[in-house]
Amino acid sequence: MKVQSNDFIALSEIAIHDKDLQEAVGSGTRTAYNKRQKSMFAHTHEHGEAMRQQAAEAKRRALRNLPDLLETAEANLTKNGFNVEWAVDAAEANKLVLEIAKKHGVKTVTKSKSMLSEELGVNHAMENAGLRVVETDLGEYIIQLNDEPPSHIVAPVIHKTKPEIRDIFIRELGMEYTDDAGEMVAFARKMLRDDFLNSDMGISGGNFVIAETGSLALVMNEGNGRMCTSVPKVHIALVGIEKLVESVEDYTTLTQVLARSGTGQNLTVYTNILNGPSREDEDDGPEHVYIIFVDNGRSDIYATNYAEALACIRCGACQNACPVYRSTGGHAYGWVYGGPIGAVLTPLYVGLENAAPLPHASSLCGSCKEVCPVDIDLPRMLLDLRWDLVQAGESKTGWNMGMKMWAIGMTSPARFSLGGVAARAGQFVMGDYMPGVLGNWTKYRDFPDFAPKSFRQQWKERQ
Ligand code: SF4
Repeated sequence: MKVQSNDFIALSEIAIHDKDLQEAVGSGTRTAYNKRQKSMFAHTHEHGEAMRQQAAEAKRRALRNLPDLLETAEANLTKNGFNVEWAVDAAEANKLVLEIAKKHGVKTVTKSKSMLSEELGVNHAMENAGLRVVETDLGEYIIQLNDEPPSHIVAPVIHKTKPEIRDIFIRELGMEYTDDAGEMVAFARKMLRDDFLNSDMGISGGNFVIAETGSLALVMNEGNGRMCTSVPKVHIALVGIEKLVESVEDYTTLTQVLARSGTGQNLTVYTNILNGPSREDEDDGPEHVYIIFVDNGRSDIYATNYAEALACIRCGACQNACPVYRSTGGHAYGWVYGGPIGAVLTPLYVGLENAAPLPHASSLCGSCKEVCPVDIDLPRMLLDLRWDLVQAGESKTGWNMGMKMWAIGMTSPARFSLGGVAARAGQFVMGDYMPGVLGNWTKYRDFPDFAPKSFRQQWKERQ
């Protein structure tokens, strides 16, 4: 996927003026956020917080022991009949997928949702090789028809309204006109049924790999994942190396917070643990199951003070809580991952110079950390990335000058007071809108009123 993250400001402008997108993303994220709050704290706030900290510890422990866990997982997965492969980058992962497809004479591939596959551009690679690839998660199916990338980690089509989806189905599939969401879903289901039955190979991601049992865990809300992993004779799971967990116990903790944080459910509708290909005494299931562990930049992140980002379990809660994402949707971030986790991961994966605006795409309000089921300190990493930008000479001159002036004002009580007087006077003259470049700030929001008297003045008067 082409990286367009340096166009964040321009892409955001487009998103902000798109009425349909505003309606769809606004209501989608609000609903998901409210459901998350209800489900996470269904018992007590303390219970929800304890669950979150237990999940955070499970992921941190797994990351600390990652090299050993990968070896244990490989041994146990192999014992269970999985074929374990390793890919250092996207090119190697795609090459492996194509080799496996060729070996088994694959022509048609059904896919369940996988953000890693978006990162690798695996659909593209397979289509270029002449394979027919069908996304079977309903949201992914819709955006594949409309030839666009996902806009949200969990809800790829969050940016589309119902009428827009109806029009895509009519245009691309010849659906008869209907406004009934149930009829649209039934129509898509019927279309996908034949693809499932005729598929030679299924591709999935992997939410977790449980090292102690050598199992692949997948959570989903549509039956498509089970169809992709059980109907075709070949199944490939593309799994990032950070998806390891130590034990079944850790998996059960994580899967609960994942569902609660992502969709506000206690558990997803389909919660699967796969233990390899079908056994001799089983009538169905895949004959060959491959797990491709993908690095693609993860080892580099592991060696930095951003390693914490690898704990992400892709629930999308930080996107739902983020005031920036809520206004722009995911496409504005210009690569696979949007929202606060995207603002951290994208510069780390594609290079700071290719995603310079993203660390600034945050008000640092802290909502992302507050809702993160594994307590990732996203605001801290966004600040550190801003520092890295300055060090790399990638921050804008205007911004640097502004920060220098801010520092001059903040390091002397006299200058600080003078600045306050000047700011109050400036607001009196200009009102709520600032001139020139400063006007970018007030273009879409009023500037908050300064207090008529500063804290220092009031303190002095009260003494
Ligand atoms: S950073 Fe946390 S909240 Fe955001 S997607 Fe990852 S796990 Fe979910």
